[in-house]
Amino acid sequence: MDNCIFCKIIAGEIPSTVIYEDEVVKAFLDISQVTPGHTLVIPKKHVKDIFEYDTQLAADVFARIPKIAKALKKFAPDVAGLNIINNNGAVAYQSVFHSHIHLVPRYGKEDGFAMTFADNSADYTPEKLANIAQSIKNNLED
Ligand code: 5GP
Ligand code: ZN
Repeated sequence: MDNCIFCKIIAGEIPSTVIYEDEVVKAFLDISQVTPGHTLVIPKKHVKDIFEYDTQLAADVFARIPKIAKALKKFAPDVAGLNIINNNGAVAYQSVFHSHIHLVPRYGKEDGFAMTFADNSADYTPEKLANIAQSIKNNLED
Protein backbone atom coordinates (compact mmCIF):
# COMPACT_ATOMS: atom_id res chain seq x y z
CA MET A 1 0.00 0.00 0.00
CA ASP A 2 1.28 3.46 -0.91
CA ASN A 3 2.82 5.45 1.90
CA CYS A 4 2.82 2.55 4.33
CA ILE A 5 6.17 2.42 6.08
CA PHE A 6 5.90 -1.31 6.78
CA CYS A 7 4.93 -2.13 3.17
CA LYS A 8 8.09 -0.24 2.21
CA ILE A 9 10.08 -2.34 4.68
CA ILE A 10 8.59 -5.50 3.16
CA ALA A 11 9.54 -4.28 -0.32
CA GLY A 12 13.08 -3.47 0.86
CA GLU A 13 12.61 0.21 -0.01
CA ILE A 14 13.32 1.07 3.65
CA PRO A 15 16.11 -0.92 5.30
CA SER A 16 15.36 -3.13 8.27
CA THR A 17 17.28 -5.57 10.42
CA VAL A 18 15.61 -8.83 9.49
CA ILE A 19 15.32 -11.78 11.84
CA TYR A 20 12.99 -14.00 9.85
CA GLU A 21 11.15 -13.82 6.56
CA ASP A 22 8.98 -16.14 4.52
CA GLU A 23 6.03 -15.81 2.16
CA VAL A 24 3.65 -14.80 4.97
CA VAL A 25 5.58 -12.59 7.42
CA LYS A 26 8.63 -10.45 7.91
CA ALA A 27 10.17 -10.13 11.39
CA PHE A 28 12.67 -7.37 12.07
CA LEU A 29 14.07 -5.38 14.96
CA ASP A 30 11.91 -2.48 16.11
CA ILE A 31 13.88 0.73 15.66
CA SER A 32 13.00 1.83 19.22
CA GLN A 33 14.48 -1.29 20.93
CA VAL A 34 12.34 -0.85 24.05
CA THR A 35 14.45 -3.71 25.35
CA PRO A 36 17.33 -5.42 23.48
CA GLY A 37 15.90 -7.71 20.81
CA HIS A 38 12.50 -5.94 20.59
CA THR A 39 11.08 -7.41 17.39
CA LEU A 40 8.11 -6.70 15.13
CA VAL A 41 6.36 -9.46 13.21
CA ILE A 42 4.25 -8.16 10.33
CA PRO A 43 2.07 -9.88 7.75
CA LYS A 44 3.26 -9.27 4.19
CA LYS A 45 -0.34 -8.61 3.24
CA HIS A 46 -1.28 -5.05 4.20
CA VAL A 47 -3.94 -5.25 6.87
CA LYS A 48 -4.47 -2.24 9.08
CA ASP A 49 -5.24 -4.01 12.31
CA ILE A 50 -6.63 -7.20 13.83
CA PHE A 51 -10.10 -6.32 12.60
CA GLU A 52 -8.97 -6.81 9.00
CA TYR A 53 -7.61 -10.34 9.49
CA ASP A 54 -9.53 -13.35 8.26
CA THR A 55 -9.15 -16.70 9.98
CA GLN A 56 -6.57 -18.00 7.53
CA LEU A 57 -4.31 -14.95 7.73
CA ALA A 58 -4.48 -15.04 11.52
CA ALA A 59 -3.58 -18.73 11.54
CA ASP A 60 -0.69 -18.16 9.14
CA VAL A 61 0.74 -15.12 10.97
CA PHE A 62 0.30 -16.33 14.54
CA ALA A 63 1.73 -19.73 13.67
CA ARG A 64 5.07 -18.00 13.10
CA ILE A 65 5.19 -16.35 16.53
CA PRO A 66 6.44 -19.25 18.72
CA LYS A 67 9.44 -19.89 16.46
CA ILE A 68 10.56 -16.27 16.71
CA ALA A 69 9.68 -16.07 20.43
CA LYS A 70 11.84 -19.12 21.16
CA ALA A 71 14.79 -17.60 19.29
CA LEU A 72 14.40 -14.38 21.30
CA LYS A 73 14.30 -16.30 24.56
CA LYS A 74 17.55 -18.03 23.71
CA PHE A 75 19.46 -15.16 22.13
CA ALA A 76 20.77 -13.75 25.42
CA PRO A 77 21.28 -15.52 28.72
CA ASP A 78 19.51 -12.81 30.70
CA VAL A 79 16.22 -12.97 28.78
CA ALA A 80 13.81 -13.96 31.54
CA GLY A 81 10.46 -13.55 29.77
CA LEU A 82 8.70 -12.08 26.76
CA ASN A 83 5.73 -9.77 26.26
CA ILE A 84 3.73 -10.17 23.04
CA ILE A 85 1.72 -7.05 22.26
CA ASN A 86 -0.55 -6.14 19.38
CA ASN A 87 -1.95 -2.60 19.41
CA ASN A 88 -5.14 -1.89 17.48
CA GLY A 89 -6.25 1.71 17.02
CA ALA A 90 -4.63 4.95 18.08
CA VAL A 91 -6.35 4.79 21.46
CA ALA A 92 -4.60 1.45 22.00
CA TYR A 93 -1.21 2.99 21.15
CA GLN A 94 -1.09 1.87 17.50
CA SER A 95 1.04 4.37 15.60
CA VAL A 96 1.80 2.42 12.40
CA PHE A 97 -1.36 1.31 10.65
CA HIS A 98 -0.02 -1.89 9.12
CA SER A 99 -0.73 -4.60 11.65
CA HIS A 100 2.25 -5.77 13.66
CA ILE A 101 3.01 -7.86 16.69
CA HIS A 102 5.60 -6.67 19.18
CA LEU A 103 7.82 -9.26 20.81
CA VAL A 104 9.57 -7.62 23.75
CA PRO A 105 12.18 -9.70 25.57
CA ARG A 106 12.13 -9.06 29.30
CA TYR A 107 15.18 -8.77 31.50
CA GLY A 108 13.64 -7.51 34.75
CA LYS A 109 11.03 -5.16 36.14
CA GLU A 110 13.11 -2.06 35.42
CA ASP A 111 14.16 -2.97 31.88
CA GLY A 112 12.28 -0.14 30.12
CA PHE A 113 8.99 -1.86 29.40
CA ALA A 114 5.92 -1.33 31.59
CA MET A 115 2.26 -2.23 31.38
CA THR A 116 -0.44 -1.68 33.97
CA PHE A 117 -3.73 -3.50 34.46
CA ALA A 118 -6.26 -1.71 36.68
CA ASP A 119 -8.18 -3.97 39.04
CA ASN A 120 -11.83 -2.96 38.69
CA SER A 121 -13.19 -6.29 39.83
CA ALA A 122 -15.06 -4.69 42.76
CA ASP A 123 -17.28 -2.83 40.25
CA TYR A 124 -18.49 -6.01 38.51
CA THR A 125 -21.19 -8.33 39.83
CA PRO A 126 -21.61 -11.77 38.22
CA GLU A 127 -24.79 -10.44 36.56
CA LYS A 128 -22.96 -7.48 35.08
CA LEU A 129 -20.24 -9.76 33.76
CA ALA A 130 -22.88 -12.09 32.29
CA ASN A 131 -24.57 -9.18 30.51
CA ILE A 132 -21.29 -8.00 29.05
CA ALA A 133 -20.41 -11.53 27.94
CA GLN A 134 -23.82 -11.97 26.28
CA SER A 135 -23.47 -8.67 24.40
CA ILE A 136 -20.07 -9.75 23.11
CA LYS A 137 -21.27 -13.26 22.21
CA ASN A 138 -24.09 -11.76 20.15
CA ASN A 139 -21.43 -10.30 17.87
CA LEU A 140 -19.28 -13.39 17.34
CA GLU A 141 -18.96 -14.26 13.66
CA ASP A 142 -17.06 -16.97 11.83
P1 5GP B 1 2.83 0.74 17.45
O1 5GP B 1 3.00 1.98 18.27
O2 5GP B 1 2.06 1.05 16.17
O3 5GP B 1 2.27 -0.45 18.16
O4 5GP B 1 4.28 0.29 17.03
C1 5GP B 1 4.95 0.79 15.91
C2 5GP B 1 6.40 0.47 16.10
O5 5GP B 1 7.04 0.64 14.86
C3 5GP B 1 7.11 1.37 17.11
O6 5GP B 1 7.59 0.59 18.19
C4 5GP B 1 8.23 2.00 16.29
O7 5GP B 1 9.45 2.09 17.01
C5 5GP B 1 8.35 1.06 15.11
N1 5GP B 1 8.84 1.69 13.90
C6 5GP B 1 8.33 2.81 13.33
N2 5GP B 1 9.01 3.09 12.20
C7 5GP B 1 9.95 2.13 12.06
C8 5GP B 1 10.96 1.88 11.07
O8 5GP B 1 11.14 2.62 10.10
N3 5GP B 1 11.75 0.79 11.25
C9 5GP B 1 11.58 -0.04 12.33
N4 5GP B 1 12.41 -1.08 12.38
N5 5GP B 1 10.65 0.16 13.27
C10 5GP B 1 9.84 1.24 13.14
ZN1 ZN C 1 1.37 -1.76 4.74
